[in-house]
Amino acid sequence: MKAFQCLLFFFLSCLQVSAQDMTYTRQVIDTLCSDFMGGRGYSFKGDKKAADYLKNEFKKHGLKPFSNGYEQSFLLSANTFPGSMELEVNGIKLAAGKDFIVRPFSGGQKGVYRAIKFKKKHFLKRSRFFKQISKSQCKNKVLVIDLDDFESKEEKEKYEHCLALIKQFDGFELAGLIEVSSSKLTWGVSTNYTGLCVLTVQKSSWPSNASEIYFNIEQKFEEIYTSQNVLGYVEGSHFPDSFILFSAHYDHLGHMGKNIFIAGANDNASGTSMLLNLAAHYAKPENKPKYSVMFIAFGAEEAGLIGSKFYVQHPLFPLNRIRFMLNMDLMGTGEDGMTAVNGRVFKKEFELLEQLNLKGNYLSKIKKRGKAANSDHYYFSESGVPAFFIYTLGGIQAYHDIYDISETLPLTKYREVYQLILDFVNALETPQ
Ligand SMILES: [Zn+2]
Repeated sequence: MKAFQCLLFFFLSCLQVSAQDMTYTRQVIDTLCSDFMGGRGYSFKGDKKAADYLKNEFKKHGLKPFSNGYEQSFLLSANTFPGSMELEVNGIKLAAGKDFIVRPFSGGQKGVYRAIKFKKKHFLKRSRFFKQISKSQCKNKVLVIDLDDFESKEEKEKYEHCLALIKQFDGFELAGLIEVSSSKLTWGVSTNYTGLCVLTVQKSSWPSNASEIYFNIEQKFEEIYTSQNVLGYVEGSHFPDSFILFSAHYDHLGHMGKNIFIAGANDNASGTSMLLNLAAHYAKPENKPKYSVMFIAFGAEEAGLIGSKFYVQHPLFPLNRIRFMLNMDLMGTGEDGMTAVNGRVFKKEFELLEQLNLKGNYLSKIKKRGKAANSDHYYFSESGVPAFFIYTLGGIQAYHDIYDISETLPLTKYREVYQLILDFVNALETPQ
């Protein structure tokens, strides 16, 4: 009976810890997705607010700072939209984020203009395009393009070439450019901008007889902006000079106008919360790791892996002391398993990950990929650091849009992934 009680107590206390961790996880994700942090971009210092919060969490959990503290600053340029974000077509107001998005490299614009339509054929030859767009009838008009017309990859590329020309010449003398598309609206961050206002409108929201267009789009280019990585570590008991590195980017896309921001719950408040949970775990004396464990919350990933590239160029200790790096992004789903980028490169480690997954019965499958420049592991593995980038699969499709919010993030296999990561590090620490 006593043994049974002990077992029951043990079982309950396990559940309790787990439930507590999930409460903390939700709290972290809610905080990172709050209005206050404004999508962790470069309007209203969203990135800085998030970094300050993370620094405090690192401190609270007991991570040690490096000699310069918990922060590593770097510079970037960023195009931002902190003010008005209005579009009306034939007197009908369209909703930012839902009906339309501003292209990340767009300039601002204000006023009422007439629409002019180009046909697909005008974009397929450079000379024809130049001739057409130089006509006086284009001056001060809004060029409307149906992106669905460009079907093949080749046609799409030709359109992009013309768009590059438009950007290069600051829009010739157009008043704006509107792309109409039935594809999902997906936003981003740009480190440059053009003088022309460019919007993408959802086809279902676009009247086919569009003639009069009102813009009020405020844009601000931050040429020299200081952002930061947040870092800390736990010293290892046996091999303090060798490191396991956990990373997750905390930045996201920020504001699209004053009233709308892209919260980035899955991308990547989820991975950032995983980073904090792991920090809390390893900082406890009873979980002291054999290797030192380093934690980096990278900034400016969405702007082109800028924070992680900066770290690789300015490492705080030689990169060859990193035994393995695990970069976590999109940790919020998992009903279809997860992917390990570099799984085809670091075969031994991938096999280990797969074995542990089978043993623990955590995820339905782990897909492996070759190398890819799609997150913060990239410059590390290019510099010889063995690294995986893991992301969960399935579930919600929200991505770089207004729907990637905390309220609908399922965290389907969050606990399982967390446990798998602990098992993986444990196995890396155990000599084979
Ligand atoms: Zn991401």
